[in-house]
Amino acid sequence: MVTEYQIRVTPEVAANEQQLKLFLQREKGVKASTLTAVRILKRSIDARQRTIFINLTVRVYINEMPEKAAFLPIDYPQVDDRPAVVVVGAGPGGLFAALRLIELGYRPIVVERGKDVHERKKDLAQIGRVQAVDPESNYSFGEGGAGAYSDGKLYTRSKKRGNVEKILQVFCQHGASTAILQDAHPHIGTDKLPRVIENMRQTILRCGGEVHFQTRMTAQLNQQHPQLRNHPHTAPTLAHTPATATPPPR
Ligand SMILES: Cc1cc2nc3c(=O)[nH]c(=O)nc-3n(C[C@H](O)[C@H](O)[C@H](O)COP(=O)(O)OP(=O)(O)OC[C@H]3O[C@@H](n4cnc5c(N)ncnc54)[C@H](O)[C@@H]3O)c2cc1C
Repeated sequence: MVTEYQIRVTPEVAANEQQLKLFLQREKGVKASTLTAVRILKRSIDARQRTIFINLTVRVYINEMPEKAAFLPIDYPQVDDRPAVVVVGAGPGGLFAALRLIELGYRPIVVERGKDVHERKKDLAQIGRVQAVDPESNYSFGEGGAGAYSDGKLYTRSKKRGNVEKILQVFCQHGASTAILQDAHPHIGTDKLPRVIENMRQTILRCGGEVHFQTRMTAQLNQQHPQLRNHPHTAPTLAHTPATATPPPR
C-alpha cells in the first residue's frame, strides 16, 4: 500500500530517513514492521518562528518497495534523417524547444549568436575587468541565455504553468540535483548550471541535431529566395519557411 502524508518536522528529522520513519510510527501510527520506505515528494522551509520547521509531503510505502528511479528519463531518439527545424537562440526556450523537437522526431538546428556557456564566461570576466562588452557574448547573449549566470533559481511568474514537473525532470536528466523535484523553491546553483546546459547541448548533438555558436539569424527567407540555394546554414523549418543564419560581422 502507498499512502501520502503532509507533515511538519524539524530539519534533523527531515534530513534522516530513519528518523522520518520513527516520526511516522509515532505520529501517524504506521507500524514499523510494515514500513518499507519513505519518499519526500515536496519540501518547503518554514522559518517564520524562532524554531525552524520543514513542511514535507511524503509518500509512505507499506509492505511494498518504491519505484527505483526518482523520475523516468526521456528516451531521446536519433533524428539524423528526420526533417530539420531551425531553432533561434540557445537560451532556455531554445534548448527546451530543441529537446522537444527531438522527442517529436524532428532534427533541431540551433543557431546562437553568442558563444558556448564556457567561452562566454571569459567575456563576462572582461566586462568586470576592463569594462569591455562583447556585443555578441555577454550577460544576455550566449548559450544558456539571459539567466545562465544568475544564481540558478527556477522561477516563473506565469500563471499558465504547463508541465513544470517535466521541465524539472529534464534538468535532472541533464545533471541537476533531484532535490529540485521536491523543493518548493527549486534551485540548480550557479556552479552547476553551466554543466547542465552543456549536457543538454550534448543530448541534442548525440541525437543528430546541430548547434552553431557565433551564428546570428539575420533573415527569414521564403522558398523562392536565391540566397537559399547551397547556403551552409540554411534549413527548412516546420512551416517550410526556411531561415538563414550568418556569423555576425567582425
Ligand atoms: C540578470 C538576469 C538574471 C536572471 N535570473 C533568473 C533566475 O535566477 N531564475 C530564473 O528563473 N530566471 C532568471 N532570469 C530570467 C531568465 O533568464 C529568462 O526568463 C530566460 O532566460 C528566458 O529564456 P529565453 O530562452 O526565452 O530567452 P533568452 O534567455 O534571452 O535566450 C535567447 C537566446 O537567443 C539568442 N539570440 C537572440 N537573438 C538571436 C539571433 N538573431 N540569432 C541567434 N541567436 C539569437 C541570445 O543570444 C540568447 O542566448 C534572469 C534574467 C536576467 C537578465
